[in-house]
Amino acid sequence: MTRQVQPGDKTVIRYRVMIKGVVQGVGFRPFVYNLAQAWGIKGSVLNSSRGVVIEAEGEEDHIAGFLSELKNNPPQLSRISDCQLSKMPPAGYTSFVILPSSPGEEKEALVPPDVAICADCAREIVDRKDRHYQYPFTNCTNCGPRFTIINEVPYDRPKTSMASFSMCGQCAREYHDPADRRFHAQPTACPVCGPRVEVLDSNAGKVAGQENWLQTCWDVLRAGSILAIKGLGGYHLTCDAKNTEAVKALRRRKGRDAKPFAVMCRDLEIVQKYCAAGEKEKELLISPLAPIVILKKHLPVKPDRALPEELAPGLKTLGVMLPYTPLHLLLFSGPFDVLVMTSGNYSDLPLVKDNSRAADELGGIADYFLQHNREIVNRCDDSLIRVVDGETQIYRRSRGYVPHPVLVSRRGDEPVILGIGGEMKNSFCLLKKNHAFMSQYIGEIDSLAGEENLLTSFFNMRKLTDATPEIVAYDAHPGYASARVARQIPARAYFAVQHHHAHLASCLAENGLEDEEVLGAVLDGTGYGTDGRLWGFEILSGNYDHFQRWFHLAYVPLPGGEAAIRQPWRTAVAYLLVFLGGEGEEYARMIFPEKNLDVIGKMVSSGFNSPLSSGCGRLFDAVSALLGVCRESTYEGQAAVELGEAVSEQADDNDIRPYPYEIEEGIILPGKMLAAIINDKMAGMPVQLISARFHRTLANMVGEAVERVSAATGINKVALSGGTWQNQHLFRAAKEELSARGLKVLFHRQVPANDGGIALGQAMIAHWRWREKCV
Ligand SMILES: [Zn+2]
Ligand SMILES: [Zn+2]
Ligand SMILES: [Zn+2]
Repeated sequence: MTRQVQPGDKTVIRYRVMIKGVVQGVGFRPFVYNLAQAWGIKGSVLNSSRGVVIEAEGEEDHIAGFLSELKNNPPQLSRISDCQLSKMPPAGYTSFVILPSSPGEEKEALVPPDVAICADCAREIVDRKDRHYQYPFTNCTNCGPRFTIINEVPYDRPKTSMASFSMCGQCAREYHDPADRRFHAQPTACPVCGPRVEVLDSNAGKVAGQENWLQTCWDVLRAGSILAIKGLGGYHLTCDAKNTEAVKALRRRKGRDAKPFAVMCRDLEIVQKYCAAGEKEKELLISPLAPIVILKKHLPVKPDRALPEELAPGLKTLGVMLPYTPLHLLLFSGPFDVLVMTSGNYSDLPLVKDNSRAADELGGIADYFLQHNREIVNRCDDSLIRVVDGETQIYRRSRGYVPHPVLVSRRGDEPVILGIGGEMKNSFCLLKKNHAFMSQYIGEIDSLAGEENLLTSFFNMRKLTDATPEIVAYDAHPGYASARVARQIPARAYFAVQHHHAHLASCLAENGLEDEEVLGAVLDGTGYGTDGRLWGFEILSGNYDHFQRWFHLAYVPLPGGEAAIRQPWRTAVAYLLVFLGGEGEEYARMIFPEKNLDVIGKMVSSGFNSPLSSGCGRLFDAVSALLGVCRESTYEGQAAVELGEAVSEQADDNDIRPYPYEIEEGIILPGKMLAAIINDKMAGMPVQLISARFHRTLANMVGEAVERVSAATGINKVALSGGTWQNQHLFRAAKEELSARGLKVLFHRQVPANDGGIALGQAMIAHWRWREKCV
């Protein structure tokens, strides 16, 4: 029976509200509670595994005000993806309460990522009168650990690694007080009841505890020692960033010759003392995401503002982050304003996260260990970001971002799909409904520890997202360990996906495209091609379902395979011999007089142990070695990174004329460019300018090839994917070049352009293949 509403009518109505999205661990329930108090609403709120459920009963206009506030001004860290209202008969509630979480059958609540320390908590830890003074695990509803401590959803303290700490009276009072900032803050803790730190020496002997840890850390850092610090998602290796000898020792012990170290600075002011940070970069640094942001160093360096060259040898940039936990912030309350903060692992092994492994794995590197007794459930590296022309490019998507899903165009009733990712910079993807859950950075898979890390992280993520894959996709490379891992995971169908097709699809997916056919310029180091060769400079057309290869860089043999990737001079010699013949041989003898070229020559002519590659990364290697920028590479992509950094910023645009090249029958021939580069070098042209011309030439090659495919197909959108696009000069030049030719350019913003993004493409391709075949 319906009643007509009269003016001034106090009709009581009741709604059940189901809210989905990131609504747990972000202060949502206290927010709802306080809002209900303010509007005089009776009923309840609870966390279920599907989201937050609210029972709201009250006068009609009050309910309307309550719901509108709820939707329009939710807590800062929350994200509402869906809000469903069901009208119910009034139940006669007399108060508003927060009910215990309900376990439920289907888990849809999204687990929040870790959040950098908030301003309120930051104030408390330096306030002598506050009970959280100098307490390194201070947190509240607005900040603190989340993903890294959660075992299971719904997100409640017993399901986290805080379960083993029982709250003291005062923490419990705050936790239960709806007016308090720590109301239902699951990881809340204080010096009385929470986790504790201790400092150990390399023989596991305790040298400091809760009372004197901070002073001890300062003392050992001041003495030039290397300290391993257990943080949020794993260990860091730390030393005084201004102590050149300490930085050198860290490089030596970590087995890391030249790969840049990230640093942590006390605050924005210190960051700006050493680096140039634009508005967007500053915003990212101080955001709750708190990633490492790659910034340009101030050049030329002023003597009072110099940091050791050894932090990032040969580079004009530096990876910088701000303290994001109370523990980090406290470290900066003493004599240091810049500390090296590099991943706590040896070489390419997974980040160390457990106390029990730290001494074994980092014992040869660190002199001291600052550790604590809160378990890290999910390993999570720092995220790595660069801002290019105001756009955010994600090089490593991990802490702060994971497990926020990337939204893609897909129906809700389709099977869960796993894309296992690639072999390097691995990250996997669980595709559930229209949510693509990209995993944290897993890293290199080509070791037992790497494989184990991938599998464990997958099992954890499957639990947190309640996404058990029915279909599994992996890279088509026959030798990849990631593919072997993928096939161990039970599923009803498996799909091998070509590497560059996955790159293309990943870019389409994050740009929200459906089955539209587009063009693709996929440039990277190495991916297994359908002809068994190593691809990496591919001009494609296609969609999720299929692709066609229209143009590629000419193949060149890589003398010694992997050895050529570590020693770019080998690839340079191969390029000279293949494309410039006898003249090339003379150049090679002139440029690399100390090398034994006869052996390389024989390998190139016979093809012995010399796989054929069209990788753009290999062309960068060759030019980098020819110009003497990088002849031996100690980390992946070093030759390309250093050649990119060599580009003269000041070079006048008109000076940057492209070099000649040829395109014949679908093949881009770089011979004329190489000859011209050598001429320029012999004529004494500065490397900065040659490098700029080289980048401009590549952009032209891409532009011309894409334009030809566009003319043949009538398609005018082009997706840029592959690790080479992280080169900002090439990215800018190609975007300009393609736009000038009337093409619309799609690129990556949410997932990495490098192999850290291919899992998304694999999953989307598998989805379309499944739809066609209906496995
Ligand atoms: Zn806080
Ligand atoms: Zn307490
Ligand atoms: Zn790739």
